[in-house]
Amino acid sequence: MILYELNCSNEHNFEAWFRDGATYDKQAKRGDIECPICSDTSIGKAPMAPRLSNSVKKENGEERAKEVAEQILRAVNKIQDHVEENCDYVGDKFADEARAIHYGDAGERGIYGEATGKEVSDLIDEKIDVLPLPRRSRKNS
Ligand SMILES: [Zn+2]
Repeated sequence: MILYELNCSNEHNFEAWFRDGATYDKQAKRGDIECPICSDTSIGKAPMAPRLSNSVKKENGEERAKEVAEQILRAVNKIQDHVEENCDYVGDKFADEARAIHYGDAGERGIYGEATGKEVSDLIDEKIDVLPLPRRSRKNS
């Protein structure tokens, strides 16, 4: 069972249980779901909002979020070290090199470098695996 928060075209909010998401879709399409307040049948899902029951919970949540952010940062640094040690830096030729490797025109190896958003979305369209690396400030000394 799944609980959805719904609203009608008159912006009444109500909750309803459904067997699953597909059941909701079917019933909503057929007009089987009625607003309990005004009987309107053009129903949509209301945006889900996280519910915070009290301020203590919120503080714990912020503490936890900070912890997670630090863990992610450490993991990012590790990934970046690994990439810099094991992959060839190809600078702004990244998209060309990734494509050459994918189509067998260049030897299979790990590479990293810079690409524009357009280049990355082209690569993804061509089913070439790319992984965005968060940028870490490089030491220039
Ligand atoms: Zn209504």
